[in-house]
Amino acid sequence: MRWSKYFLQTVREVPGDAEAVSHVLLTRAGMMRRVAGGIYSLTPLGLRAHRKTETIVREEMDRAGALELELPILQPRELWEQSGRWERYARDEILFHLKDRRGGEYCLAPTAEEAVTTLVLSGVTSYRQLPVTLYQIRTKFRDEIRPRFGLMRGREFLMYDGYSFDADAAGLDRSYRAQDAAYRRIFERCGLEFTVVEADSGAIGGRDSQEFMVLAETGEDAVVRCGACGYGANLEKAETGRRPGVWDGETASKLEDVETPGKGGIDDVVAFLGITADRMIKCLVYETEQGFVVALLRGDLDANEVALKHALGVEHLALASEEEVEKATGAPVGYVGPHGLPSSVRVIADESVRGAVNAVTGAGRKDWHVRGLALDRDAKVGGWALFAKARAGDPCPRCGSPLAVARGIEVGHIFKLGTKYSEALGCVFTDEKGETRPAVMGTYGIGVGRTLASAVEQHHDADGIVWPLALAPFEIELVSLNAADAAVRDAADALYAELGAAGLEVFYDDRDERPGVKFKDADLLGFPIRVNVGGRSLKEGKIEVVARRDKSVRAVPRGEALAAVAALRQELAPLPLPAGGGRGEGQP
Ligand code: ATP
Ligand code: MG
Repeated sequence: MRWSKYFLQTVREVPGDAEAVSHVLLTRAGMMRRVAGGIYSLTPLGLRAHRKTETIVREEMDRAGALELELPILQPRELWEQSGRWERYARDEILFHLKDRRGGEYCLAPTAEEAVTTLVLSGVTSYRQLPVTLYQIRTKFRDEIRPRFGLMRGREFLMYDGYSFDADAAGLDRSYRAQDAAYRRIFERCGLEFTVVEADSGAIGGRDSQEFMVLAETGEDAVVRCGACGYGANLEKAETGRRPGVWDGETASKLEDVETPGKGGIDDVVAFLGITADRMIKCLVYETEQGFVVALLRGDLDANEVALKHALGVEHLALASEEEVEKATGAPVGYVGPHGLPSSVRVIADESVRGAVNAVTGAGRKDWHVRGLALDRDAKVGGWALFAKARAGDPCPRCGSPLAVARGIEVGHIFKLGTKYSEALGCVFTDEKGETRPAVMGTYGIGVGRTLASAVEQHHDADGIVWPLALAPFEIELVSLNAADAAVRDAADALYAELGAAGLEVFYDDRDERPGVKFKDADLLGFPIRVNVGGRSLKEGKIEVVARRDKSVRAVPRGEALAAVAALRQELAPLPLPAGGGRGEGQP
């Protein structure tokens, strides 16, 4: 492809709304353009990289035995009502919905469990027809609260979504593992460094669930990992081993009031009384659809609200307002204590306050705290759970070694769904014994654009993108440094023809621009291999082969150009994949 005949404009300025490196670089490289928040056009160059990512996903899914199909994007409300998701998704406002001329309601699919389950139920009647894994790679729509980071969190985006149907749990396990292995190969081929972590199963209601995380500063997720045993989890889901309590081994002294005028916050009380925060019991008041809840945890820890929601079995959980706190507990914010709470509020405690004695906490009235509180003696706890947020340095729940916390981008998700949808929609089959059973399902997703953007997050430098070979829009950029010089132009043209004839993907910068401009653009575009044809080296019969990765230059005789390019390409190509899976760390 000749640049002079292509549609490509690189951009100097950084787009105003771009916070992520990938968003900046993909825009500056002329690969995407913003149309509206979370809605982008891909240029021909952008589409090439996007397609390469998509192709890798398709090849590996086909290899794993999954079957590609197409489900509608425009889906009727009735379908979503059968699973009960219309109301929830509409309430979360994630669903784009519209009406037709007759008043019928539709949504633009954010995912397609209902559609695929309906399709399978109309065709599958016997266990002999199972298992089957179906997938599509199609545009999804979600009215995200915060569309941002370009392709990373769009409102319209391309997603691989796969669905497995099995006769039993053991079958689901096999289908799930096949997807896990395919995911590892996919992200490996994309040149990504990733980690696989346990994920929260959320409101969708299922059991096992894992996320594929690309570690990067811009990641919106926090990932907890143990370097010693390989345990990894999304922070939302992460557990910890038991943290040693400050009160371990102490005997309880008596409860006494202390005046703490105007000291409502943990930090204020800690400073005022000259204690450490882990001496305190934090009382968080939440409102839920089941009424008010007081959650107790150690003063130095934060609540993981996802875990707390699960522990309480509620769907809605939000910190109560000042008025609500007083109404529910009788104490103002900052002075709530676990003792003397009205019996109408539910009290749940985190394991971090188990056995607490000599603790400091609110006295239940303004400007007063208590010290010497013994939780078992002085308060009534309705239930115990683990909902303190894991922190770096906390003990690993498996092996006790200190945990690390990093930022991650969720590029893929695999999920054992179970029978939630097959039961709701009636996707049943007859088993060997002639009994009717619901299919056991798994659901799987990969963001194509997000994967591409993650590759740029991991592979760039100060001058631009450094594409992994597999995702580069073009593998090679040929640059004629002086297009006005006939000798240079002829040599570059000939080389362009030669590389093309060898089946290589070449983007030829044949524009009439200064070398400085061309080099800047070449660095920004970041194709892995660059070939420079310039007047000076040409006089010596040489051309230059440059690796974008480290900008190392090899001057080679003109006649050996093709061989040198092929050798560098070989060097940059990912190693062949092991048969079973990829090399990503984390347990399957
Ligand atoms: P997130 O938590 O980031 O919102 P999710 O858990 O809602 O994502 P899934 O429903 O699991 O996402 O979707 C499967 C995959 O689709 C994700 O792993 C991600 O790669 C991709 N994806 C989800 N939402 C978006 C989006 N708004 N833009 C681009 N890709 C997305
Ligand atoms: Mg997810």
